[in-house]
Amino acid sequence: MNLIFLGAPGSGKGTQAEILEKKRGLKKLSTGDMLRAAVQEGSILGIRAQGYMEQGKLVPDALIIDLISAVLAESDEENGFILDGFPRTVAQAEALDGMLEMNNLSIDHVIDITADEEILVARVAGRYSCSKCGSGYHDEFKKPAVEGVCDSCESREFTRRKDDNAKTVRARLQEYDKQTSPLTDYYIKRGILRRISGMQEIDKVQADIARYLDA
Ligand code: AMP
Repeated sequence: MNLIFLGAPGSGKGTQAEILEKKRGLKKLSTGDMLRAAVQEGSILGIRAQGYMEQGKLVPDALIIDLISAVLAESDEENGFILDGFPRTVAQAEALDGMLEMNNLSIDHVIDITADEEILVARVAGRYSCSKCGSGYHDEFKKPAVEGVCDSCESREFTRRKDDNAKTVRARLQEYDKQTSPLTDYYIKRGILRRISGMQEIDKVQADIARYLDA
């Protein structure tokens, strides 16, 4: 089964994709993670993408399309994949259609996780993660049990994404509204869009997704 996850920053799509990856063996393909790794490595892609990412802007389509087409051409996932953060523009969705056809693949469901803007901003602006194991935390909504110590691996080092601050998140939400939300119509027309409220507890969102996948 192959899925696309749509949803603004802070909607919880990354968290939900991670849970599905563990539960159902679907491979999470996150363009945001790939780009952050490229920035970390200092590759040409990373150097080109970094400025856009830090300003909360979308990286140019051509860079992302090249990146994901290489990933899909090599993908031999037994249980399928979840595209997390791609496509984000109509041009990317059209390019994806071509890549799927070329690789004899198709998308079963497009999961669109929605939430109110103020909730999205509050979630994103306060989030951080353990530098060692990647466990996610939040200044307000999910503090570690012992302050400054990771619940999962007891590390004392944490990191925050450079673009997870109140100013940049507003820019990212604007990009989402302008460039990515038209994709819901694109997939409604194909009859594969499933809209889910991301204002609920993590388990409830996961249960709503599971209902579609198991239907
Ligand atoms: P994310 O981790 O999905 O929130 O992505 C972080 C940043 O990476 C975004 O704000 C964009 O700058 C860039 N990015 C990730 N995926 C895409 C994409 N499909 N198209 C353009 N830019 C992207």
